[in-house]
Amino acid sequence: MIPFFLGYALLVWWPCVVYRRRWQGFLAVALGTLVLVSLIRLHIQAGIWTGGRIFVPVFQSLLIPYTFLIAGVGLYINLLPRTHARGYCGRCGYDLTGLDPDKHTCPECGRAFEYAPPPRSEPVHAPDMPQAVADPVAKARARARAAERLLTRTRASADHPR
Ligand SMILES: [Zn+2]
Repeated sequence: MIPFFLGYALLVWWPCVVYRRRWQGFLAVALGTLVLVSLIRLHIQAGIWTGGRIFVPVFQSLLIPYTFLIAGVGLYINLLPRTHARGYCGRCGYDLTGLDPDKHTCPECGRAFEYAPPPRSEPVHAPDMPQAVADPVAKARARARAAERLLTRTRASADHPR
């Protein structure tokens, strides 16, 4: 009995973790609850049909709170925020910045990503920052890179004068 309760909980909650805040996650909770409600009804019906021979009161009194537990925890998991910000792999958190946008899989774990990673010039560590705050950082970085390139070129021409 205990392996059933544990296994069933994992079966319902695991897709909730993977697909939380998406329709698949809510579908998993809905289906998981529906199966348990059907089981409760079937158990009651079996008791009626067999005149109480197939009816386990302990099973019934466990199944009802268990159904609420499965539905409640499943919904709670579904409402948890997704941990990885935009521009990072949803599964392993790998930084997807600058990857080939035509190959939509994470090079670290192989998961397909649903969005185009932001271009290099965007501030990748500030996905929720307002544009007015985020922009000066990107501009400063771009200026620093340009200055670095200029310096490298100047040094190269100084080392090898024509
Ligand atoms: Zn990944």
